[in-house]
Amino acid sequence: MCDGASVLLHVRCGGCAKLYQQEVTLPPGRPAPVDGDELMEHPEIRNAGFECPKCETPSAEIVAFKVREASRAA
Ligand SMILES: [Zn+2]
Repeated sequence: MCDGASVLLHVRCGGCAKLYQQEVTLPPGRPAPVDGDELMEHPEIRNAGFECPKCETPSAEIVAFKVREASRAA
């Protein structure tokens, strides 16, 4: 029924301040976050390994996110 949503994170590089996106998939059955506090309750999000595509800095600040509900397999 609930296949695990994915979350598209919009982050800002802690090194060069470049904005980029990273997608994190949540385990099946995990409710998708509705706000920033809930977002950070997910270990998959907290432990998401960021890496700037420009300067490879492994730290980034999440500035926004968008939930994508899992699409049902046709
Ligand atoms: Zn960077």
